Amino acid sequence: MHQSVEKILITQEEIVARAKELGKEISELYQGKKPPILVALLKGSVPFLSELIKYIELDIEFDFMDVSSYEGTKSLGDIKINKDLECSVKDETILLVEDIVDTGCTLKEVTRILRNKGAKDVKVVSLLDKPDRRIVDIRADFIGFTIPDEFVIGFGLDYNQKYRNLPYIGVLKREIYE
Ligand code: 5GP
Repeated sequence: MHQSVEKILITQEEIVARAKELGKEISELYQGKKPPILVALLKGSVPFLSELIKYIELDIEFDFMDVSSYEGTKSLGDIKINKDLECSVKDETILLVEDIVDTGCTLKEVTRILRNKGAKDVKVVSLLDKPDRRIVDIRADFIGFTIPDEFVIGFGLDYNQKYRNLPYIGVLKREIYE
């Protein structure tokens, strides 16, 4: 275990097993329909996307978006697009891929942006869900794991851009960020 990790919450084996289940559920939901374009939010969702797509038995495409929240004067929930999609989502079925849903602000805004671009249907799959922190009434359609209100790292999730490569989800030691 990495020295900055207090405890492992979810092992690599558990993540892989859950990705298989989610891949199956997603495949079943879209069976016989137009396959979705997976829109993954950089950078946190990349390891989860890589794992999940192995188990989706549909002719999907994927693309990336990078968004960040404004700091300072802008109202809560406003987000800035750092990198936009390369594909058109007009009349498309979208499956948004997230690492974690925390307050729900990012999810709400990105969903709105995709609908404004003409997406026909937007569903969400998130590796993690932290419902205790929610301030916006929104929920992912597919959730890997529901976790308590702790700051986690690994499997794409960072602290100051580090620890994304850890193969598990762990709780960051308080002394690292306090
Ligand atoms: P939301 O808009 O739902 O509050 O924020 C979602 C984003 O906040 C996630 O994509 C992630 O980047 C960040 N975030 C929220 N909780 C955690 C956490 O426990 N650990 C890490 N590393 N990032 C988090």
